[in-house]
Amino acid sequence: MTGRVGGRIMSLRGLGPEEDLVVDVGAYRTWPEYTPITHALVTDYLGLPVHCYDPGDVPCAKFNIATEVGSDRKAGFATFVEEMMKRLVDAGARWFPNYELKAIAQASAPADKQLTFGNGAQAVASKLILNMPQRPLLKVLRASSLPMGAVDSGSFGALHTVATEIVTKVYLYYSDAWWVNDLGLTSGTFELSGDATEMELKGRYHDGDVKCDANGQNCHGFLQATYAHDFAGATSMYLRRFQNDRESPATIVGSDDPEGANFLQHAHDRVVYYHKYVGAASDDRYTAFQVRNLHSQTSPPEFAVIAHWNIATPGAGGGWHGWTNLDHTDVALDPLGSYGIHLVNEAFSFVQGWAEGSLQQADTVLKDYFGVDRPWGALDVSSEISKVVRDTAMDCDTASASTTTGGSSSSGSGSSGSGGGGGSPLCFTGEARLQLANGSLVLLRDAQKGDRVWTGDGVGTVTEALTHEVGGMMEVAVLSTPHGALVGTTNHPVLVGSEWHEIAAAHAAGLLPEVSFEQRFVDALYNLEIDGDAPGASAHAYVVNGVIASGLGDNEVLNLAFPRQESWKAEKERNAATQVEKFHAEVNESLSVGGCPSMLVGAN
Ligand SMILES: Cc1cc2nc3c(=O)[nH]c(=O)nc-3n(C[C@H](O)[C@H](O)[C@H](O)COP(=O)(O)OP(=O)(O)OC[C@H]3O[C@@H](n4cnc5c(N)ncnc54)[C@H](O)[C@@H]3O)c2cc1C
Repeated sequence: MTGRVGGRIMSLRGLGPEEDLVVDVGAYRTWPEYTPITHALVTDYLGLPVHCYDPGDVPCAKFNIATEVGSDRKAGFATFVEEMMKRLVDAGARWFPNYELKAIAQASAPADKQLTFGNGAQAVASKLILNMPQRPLLKVLRASSLPMGAVDSGSFGALHTVATEIVTKVYLYYSDAWWVNDLGLTSGTFELSGDATEMELKGRYHDGDVKCDANGQNCHGFLQATYAHDFAGATSMYLRRFQNDRESPATIVGSDDPEGANFLQHAHDRVVYYHKYVGAASDDRYTAFQVRNLHSQTSPPEFAVIAHWNIATPGAGGGWHGWTNLDHTDVALDPLGSYGIHLVNEAFSFVQGWAEGSLQQADTVLKDYFGVDRPWGALDVSSEISKVVRDTAMDCDTASASTTTGGSSSSGSGSSGSGGGGGSPLCFTGEARLQLANGSLVLLRDAQKGDRVWTGDGVGTVTEALTHEVGGMMEVAVLSTPHGALVGTTNHPVLVGSEWHEIAAAHAAGLLPEVSFEQRFVDALYNLEIDGDAPGASAHAYVVNGVIASGLGDNEVLNLAFPRQESWKAEKERNAATQVEKFHAEVNESLSVGGCPSMLVGAN
């Protein structure tokens, strides 16, 4: 229905003074571990060159499409869809851009369907594959007149078991890419919570297209300032008023008019504030001295690209989808198959949030209804490999929010509030250096469920990666370590000798001299649950900046079984042994059938 191919894979090209920069306002990367078909399609089948998405990601796990072999410049992720369409058209297929399907009716021959388009065009199809997300599909079905039984209330019920997630991206163009030129930041993330009056920051230094001279200096390009998503649209509260054109997901904001200039100044103030007052205190790659004069020396961005994927985005209706109920997936994946209308889309797939879901569905429909074998040969694309698990049901969001304590809140995939037991959030800032099982160090905020980590006396698996948003001043413990300052909550237990002590208590007892306590602005705190599915099987610990920290997470069963924090010790005393058993029973029950289904969706 648009004039381009790609849908939510959309590359804006020709940006910047030399008209050679790209912004992927929608999809942007492959991740072979979770999106094996997409990666094979891009690299093996279409033969397109790729480069590593994040230079700090070693070995490289995620890839962008490159302009040429060996180049680290972005060609735009839409390149692979454009190449597919080119090959199709070369092979005789016809493409009708700007045709919006409005309605489907039964044609005179029993197998035929009558299609009506927005420009008045009509067509008859005997075989029909619809590549449409949930909201556009429902819009067409509501306007259609299909025979009795083709689509019934059960089908509509199943199509309603996914919900759209609202996604917003902001890219700021600077002719002086100061974060690279002055601070050397080419990898990593930064966050500053926002609201209706302050733009939320949730950026990645490695995401925006940046171009440097032949010596790798004097860079200019895009800083990705925000990449936020949630079901309610809360994270886009400040930004959504800047959606200029409801027909397009992309809005370019320039400085020529006062409204645009205001936005660019605000966005600039936010990123400068972050680097001066938050990043400088926590990111050991640069110092407060380096950013002291940032505001006075650096001009606001020349322009910005804001991407909005919400219910007003035609043909999309949102960024991506999440199952809210797994009871009717069979019908939702193939609601009209028996009537000869087949559905291929990320919305109704097992890898939501990724082009992979759409490609898997295409393979299934072609195999089941058209006898076409998958072209991927021996590639293992079993759903087990492609699953990225995330809880997305609305009631789960509510449940996790309602368990939040201590004035902090939690958000994002894998995040959780503190449990209902005796603990308060125990965490470190995202810059803590986490030791993986292979000895390498990664930022704690980048840790993910399933990561294998060093526990101090063996290897453990991350069973929950927890995020507690703070967005304010709080008292923290600052431990001086050979890896730089480790900043965390004062009551996080650490192993001193062979005993667990809360940091503040260990310092008071003279066991941990290299600690100071101070008030700091903290954006978010991070913690891990290690081997929460196997109590007692490991040390339930992880190593940050060389310090062995408790890794019981917010898991009540673990915290009651191995109380290390004073409040959990008191809680255990209050709970008789029978209470512990009750907790076990409840947790086991919620894991087996529980209120929150495990979803098979992407973690973009
Ligand atoms: C911000 C963002 C980042 C993402 N990042 C990644 C990533 O890094 N990697 C990844 O693999 N995936 C990513 N995704 C997801 C990816 O974009 C989607 O999964 C993918 O585009 C789904 O493809 P699709 O063909 O199923 O649906 P779509 O891309 O939505 O395509 C549907 C097409 O149908 C058209 N259409 C809709 N209604 C009608 C109608 N009535 N008549 C005619 N045409 C119609 C639309 O215009 C569109 O062209 C991201 C998505 C977003 C929003």
